[in-house]
Amino acid sequence: MALSWICLSANNFRPTVGVVEINPDFSLYQIDANYSMKYLLLHEISHILGFSRFVFQNLNFIYSETVNGEEIFYINSTKVIEKAKIHFNCENIKGIALENQGGDGSAGSHWEARYMLGDYMISTDYPEVVISDITLAYFEDTGFYKVNYYSGGLFRFGKNQGCAFLEEKCVKDNGKSTSFTNDFCLEEYGPFCGSSHISRGFCLILEYSEKVEVNHYENELMGGLDVADYCPVSYAYDEDLYDYYVFPSNCYFGFNYLEGEEIGDKSLCFESSLTLNKDTSTDNNVESMCYRLECDKNNKVFNVYVNDSIINCPGNETILQDPNGFKGQIKCPDYNIVCSSKTWCNELFDCINKKSEADPETFYYNKNNEEKDDSNSNLKPNTLAIPLVFIVILTTFLLFLKVI
Ligand SMILES: [Zn+2]
Repeated sequence: MALSWICLSANNFRPTVGVVEINPDFSLYQIDANYSMKYLLLHEISHILGFSRFVFQNLNFIYSETVNGEEIFYINSTKVIEKAKIHFNCENIKGIALENQGGDGSAGSHWEARYMLGDYMISTDYPEVVISDITLAYFEDTGFYKVNYYSGGLFRFGKNQGCAFLEEKCVKDNGKSTSFTNDFCLEEYGPFCGSSHISRGFCLILEYSEKVEVNHYENELMGGLDVADYCPVSYAYDEDLYDYYVFPSNCYFGFNYLEGEEIGDKSLCFESSLTLNKDTSTDNNVESMCYRLECDKNNKVFNVYVNDSIINCPGNETILQDPNGFKGQIKCPDYNIVCSSKTWCNELFDCINKKSEADPETFYYNKNNEEKDDSNSNLKPNTLAIPLVFIVILTTFLLFLKVI
């Protein structure tokens, strides 16, 4: 859909001139086309600003390892490692892998989606688009830019899951179990929110026409999302809505899909079958739904609003059955997943506009009620001066609008 390349660089390899080429067929008639265009330009301009194999190599931020006979490239610059240790809660991390699939245009210039799904610098369109502190750290590492970490903490894929998230298989036992229940799913086409909970979806498990490159199932044709090393992850529905929306499943600006849902700047995705109809003799199906929520930072709990009734979520990941006069169930994610913004935001540009950083108090938490080493819990993200990256993007975007 778009291409970008660096035309000219300074002696220190800082890019000074670049080109973004947008496919003229790019659709602008969908209701949320302004968001998709902003995301697309943010991605392409970031390549020009330095997120490219050319710059990785010239700054010596890259190393390779042979894994299962294939050469995998990793970024290991200082702040990337620092932020990745905090994000994954893994002290042993040596680097973040780059995408190895997708040919010359994608491989080597994007994050590997198996570890960075949802970050805006992966190689594919994905229903959740967020900025991670890890990507911002890369730009700071180049020395070309000062960076504000206005990520809102929305990047939640693998958050606090430990080194096991990076080292172990995403699912085990022929896809019947996983240790990472916020990130990977088990039930084919079952309701499953994106790991950042900003998008509804279902569990993507497909039968491919050829054997998949990374096996998770006895059936060698079966696999999840290809660029995520075929792991089963959340994916958006519904195909028909794509005529009207680029991101129909988004809880911030998407489509109000099911009764009781609320789309908006305070909503996130929950897996729920709640209904007020107490006469229902059979249980409703669980669906992934957008509900409004409100975080209580003092008590580390949150309220979910369904049809103007309040449901109190307790803080740790819990399934509530028939809460507060409702029939059905709702899965409350961990407080530290859904309340991770210092100032509330649930969309990438919303977080930048509100200057919202990740809340460091949500970096480490007890997973499965096990004691965790929280010796690093005082680490705070750096705050620095000008949101340079964003200004450049916005200026280019405005110029672009003027041109068309
Ligand atoms: Zn790209």
